[in-house]
Amino acid sequence: MKIAEVVVDRPVRGLDRAWSYAIPEGMDLVSGTRVEVPLGAGKAFGIVVAISDSKPAQIELKSVLAALDPYPVLTSEMIDLAHWMAERYVCFLPQALRAMIPSAVRRGMKPKVIWHYHTVGERTGRSSLKQTLWQWIHEHPQATRVEMQKVFTNPGTLLKALVAEGSVVATREIKGKEFRVNPSPYQLNEDQLAAISAIDSAPGRQWLLEGVTGSGKTEVYLAVLQKVLQRGGQALVLVPEIALTPQTWERFSARFPDSTYVWHSNLTDGERVQLWQAVQTDEPLVVIAARSGVFLPFQHLRLIVIDEEQETSYKQEDHPRYHAREVAIRRAKSFGATLILGSATPSLETAWNARQGHIGWIKLPSRVMQRSLPEMRVVDMRQELATGNRGMFSKTLMDAISAALEREQQVLLFLNRRGFSTFVLCRSCGKALGCPHCAVTLTYHSDQDHLRCHYCDFTMPMPTHCPACRSDKIRYFGAGTERVVAEVQRLWPQARIVRADRDSLTSRDSYYQLYRTFIQGQADVLVGTQMIAKGMDFPRVTVVGIVAADLGLHFPDFRSGERTFQLLVQSGGRAGRGIDPGQVVVQTYNPEHYAITHAVTQDVDAFVRQELEMRQELGYPPFGSLWLLELSGTDEGAVIQAAQQLGDQLSVRLANNAAVLGPSAAPLLKIRNHYRYHILVRTASNELAVSRTLLEMQSEHPELSITTDPYFML
Ligand code: ADP
Ligand code: ZN
Ligand code: ZN
Repeated sequence: MKIAEVVVDRPVRGLDRAWSYAIPEGMDLVSGTRVEVPLGAGKAFGIVVAISDSKPAQIELKSVLAALDPYPVLTSEMIDLAHWMAERYVCFLPQALRAMIPSAVRRGMKPKVIWHYHTVGERTGRSSLKQTLWQWIHEHPQATRVEMQKVFTNPGTLLKALVAEGSVVATREIKGKEFRVNPSPYQLNEDQLAAISAIDSAPGRQWLLEGVTGSGKTEVYLAVLQKVLQRGGQALVLVPEIALTPQTWERFSARFPDSTYVWHSNLTDGERVQLWQAVQTDEPLVVIAARSGVFLPFQHLRLIVIDEEQETSYKQEDHPRYHAREVAIRRAKSFGATLILGSATPSLETAWNARQGHIGWIKLPSRVMQRSLPEMRVVDMRQELATGNRGMFSKTLMDAISAALEREQQVLLFLNRRGFSTFVLCRSCGKALGCPHCAVTLTYHSDQDHLRCHYCDFTMPMPTHCPACRSDKIRYFGAGTERVVAEVQRLWPQARIVRADRDSLTSRDSYYQLYRTFIQGQADVLVGTQMIAKGMDFPRVTVVGIVAADLGLHFPDFRSGERTFQLLVQSGGRAGRGIDPGQVVVQTYNPEHYAITHAVTQDVDAFVRQELEMRQELGYPPFGSLWLLELSGTDEGAVIQAAQQLGDQLSVRLANNAAVLGPSAAPLLKIRNHYRYHILVRTASNELAVSRTLLEMQSEHPELSITTDPYFML
């Protein structure tokens, strides 16, 4: 008799393992198949993760009831991956599998017929989302709904209306299945060609493609992709933000019109199932995906590209707390697929790997068409204040903005905060208004004239007097995007301004419209948070202002220097991407900090060297591994006590393998009335031993939250 090891897809006790079931005579079962099994008094779905021979003691096992698929939904490569994830990210096997398989697939949903849409005749209408959609379909004939959803959040109703009025027609599948590719619009330069031939000549190799902003990395990806697709291979392109996918998709599908797919959190179940199946066929295709696309069950994966590989959005914050770059590195190895990590400002982990020779290292040192990198200037805001300028903009930045507007060029202003005025402060007693539930300051929102907590969403009306001393000298302080907008409006009343932050960009529709507005020159100034610092390619932008470079420099997180450096260089990279040269003005109270000085000279090497020194000294990644353990509860005393006990236990169990730091109060001690305490575990060499111990601790303490290599330590 054979035994099937089954992971049951249900939150049952003993979540940390697979269960053994007997395979009835005549049932042909392989690893990776969905099955129905008896569980308690009822039945449950599960996935077979291994097949073994029975041992005498296992005679009493219950039997598998039915196999649900004619073929396995998971390959052995993915089952191995799940085991590896459980160890690396200190999670249980069922959690790893859950993250890998979309729920629609676990439920056994089957793919549907695909409809293609095209426009008929002309349609004129006032500017509305419906007209925008019609125009888009007109520009993308034979588009599918999946494709529309890359750009529009919810095209369903509008599409129905367009079909009803006859301006759009739907047809069934029309694909000829012949691979089509359109030529590149550019004459690639020597650096680009050298990069392409190096990558192409070493299939299966892993690379850092370090190219300054605007050096044409995407054209390198496209050329390598073309070779992969022409040979019948499949490829995955990971991009950091959902917001970036419409733009990226347009560029890729312009090149490979029938073979470009996207994968992100806004797909419907049907679309997920469709793509989940497509990648399991022989079809040559490229999937542009957000983080979770790293788990798609490709058959012929030959290339993985991770664009902006340093982005923290590749780290999943919830269980299992995986990093898509690490998973991609592992999957590329299993497939013998080529991996390209693209960035202008690589993560320290990747920079270190390249310097050690663990991965190949290709540089694109200059911008395309001999365009120059922007000139970067630092303004010391302390001196600005000393000379009597109390405003938010230095004289340097104001002059640059005026000059750009006069020449009808565009301006980007960055801030890494949102909302109008970060906080409210009493000038009589110095008290700032804080949230009664969380240890953070409240943010003033001018549109509703109220204060809001960004952690728990607590709100209160803007008071007229200080609650502490009753003084009426209570004012907004700091700078938020809305306040920057107001100030630009006051100084340059003729300027057309748009705002881009998480409050104003609530959907991909609004993001796409903003992108269009700005690229078509219908606005002069874009004020935004760092979300617009990435990827955006606006050729008419010549001035970038970093309004307050040091917000973020003093976060209690060992990566704050790295992030500030990357943010500054990336933001600077938005300037002068077109014909006109660009300039960047960095306003800061810390002009001598190395993250700022090296960002200003755009000297990645110098920054990496200095940062690696610091990391090595303190044993931080890439020189060691780190885990963040968090305990929380409403009774602070009890949490402290539990954390203390846990810390002692850990010190004993990990003994010589790792250092145990803390427990200490989390930087944000109280969130939603829960007190939070942290313990850090750090090791230089015994990663496996530590993660096994931590996994044991996790099953003994289910309330404990463990993060491997934490990126969000507040
Ligand atoms: P990166 O991703 O390195 O920032 P992109 O690939 O987005 O750079 O390229 C920057 C701009 O230059 C894009 O508008 C791109 O279409 C254009 N471009 C890329 N390669 C060339 C080339 N060889 N000649 C002219 N323009 C190019
Ligand atoms: Zn007061
Ligand atoms: Zn709060």
